[in-house]
Amino acid sequence: CGVFGVIGVADAANFVALGLHALQHRGQEAGGIVSHDPVEGFNSARRFGYVRDNFTSQSLMQTLPGPLAIGHVRYSTAGSKGAAIRDVQPFFGEFAMGGAAIAHNGNLTNADALRRELIERGSIFQSSSDSECIIHLMARSLQRNIPERMEDALRRVEGAFSIVAMTRTKLIGVRDPMGVRPLVLGKVGDGWVLSSETCALDIIGAQLVREIEPGEMVVISEKHGVESVRPFRPQPAKFCIFEHVYFSRPDSIIGGRSVYETRRQIGVELARETPVEADLVCPVPDSGTPAAIGFAHESGIPFGMGIIRNQYMGRTFIEPTEQIRNMGVRLKLNVNRALIEGKRVVLVDDSVVRGTTSRKIKEMILDAGAAEVHFRIASPPTAWPCFYGVDTPQREKLLAATMTEEEMRQHLSVDSLKFISLDGLYRAVGEAGGRDNNCPQHCDACFSGEYPVIPSDMIQKGFQL
Ligand code: 5GP
Ligand code: SF4
Ligand code: MG
Repeated sequence: CGVFGVIGVADAANFVALGLHALQHRGQEAGGIVSHDPVEGFNSARRFGYVRDNFTSQSLMQTLPGPLAIGHVRYSTAGSKGAAIRDVQPFFGEFAMGGAAIAHNGNLTNADALRRELIERGSIFQSSSDSECIIHLMARSLQRNIPERMEDALRRVEGAFSIVAMTRTKLIGVRDPMGVRPLVLGKVGDGWVLSSETCALDIIGAQLVREIEPGEMVVISEKHGVESVRPFRPQPAKFCIFEHVYFSRPDSIIGGRSVYETRRQIGVELARETPVEADLVCPVPDSGTPAAIGFAHESGIPFGMGIIRNQYMGRTFIEPTEQIRNMGVRLKLNVNRALIEGKRVVLVDDSVVRGTTSRKIKEMILDAGAAEVHFRIASPPTAWPCFYGVDTPQREKLLAATMTEEEMRQHLSVDSLKFISLDGLYRAVGEAGGRDNNCPQHCDACFSGEYPVIPSDMIQKGFQL
């Protein structure tokens, strides 16, 4: 998901709509905005579909007045899949001291247990979302102001959270103690901005101030500016390495480094680790493009767009059902036959999850007359599900969970299939010495199976580490 918030500008909701549009790649199912105005109070609008199809209407935006607003773009991980407007964020709760609205990116790993406990004690849940627990925990806290109630609530939850929240007068941003999901602070005029990624600051002309640090909470008001607190026991940082590989937009900056440059570097490492004799390097667009550019540069094999993407389709992975996803690949990608014919082609993609994309693409490339097909993947085999906010399927559906690399190669029937090593990936994201196996510098659980937070709800349901 993507989260965004603004304080201290006229008609903040308009800025939020723009910010969410720039974060649309983080979630395409639905979006929502909550604003606050001193006279009109809290207002909210939550809609299915793209930001540009909903939050561009003047009549809707006029219902969201005020100098303070937050928003969310959703892609379901926890909670029910598919249609239920009650699961669309931001969530708003009216309780002592005027209430609050929150937008959450990530996934809480003990939400089932918390929900059971809260329901037993009388909480009435409106949605099936893990994030709603936070509102109920805040409503029950005995602290005397909302930021402190939020600290209270967040000390009870486990898992990954980057949160943008608001009260009547404050914009609040928090990252979980390990900083699994991103969150940055920006400045626009006299106002302040919180955003999942820097690409959404650019769109509203805001300047990046800095990243919110793992375990940090910032409370921003027009009166006092930015105040920072540290509600949690310090822990080693575990930023999601997959944000670098796939999830973030390539024009965003993470840790002072452009995501595009990191991805290009992944391609360079990949070419060094898994060289191949071929005539053409093709990306699987768009997610494989920067890595393919790096691969071509390092290997000296010419780069070409052998697969053309229809720009009017969304990301395949985020389509909720398998059937739609299967169709999606063909609706979205087509082969550039004239370029491919008779060539030995290296196809570079960011990841293999179920193998649906790679299989379809291999067929298309061979149908177009390629002499050989070599897959090069810009991440290690995805063998474990993510429980921290990226929607990977159950373990059984992951190709790499049940097959060796050679079995996957046969399954896809390609001439070769190679993945970047974990060490190579760490080098590419800027860890010159590779992965520190005693205390990995990132979360890489979907590749390594080493979960930095025990996924307790899932273990309760029978998941085996
Ligand atoms: P597959 O078809 O193997 O199931 O999925 C691989 C494709 O989906 C890749 O081309 C990649 O761009 C995209 N993708 C891979 N992993 C993820 C993921 O965890 N989350 C999302 N949203 N998309 C992914
Ligand atoms: Fe990111 Fe993978 Fe960790 Fe999930 S399990 S947070 S996708 S690195
Ligand atoms: Mg892709």
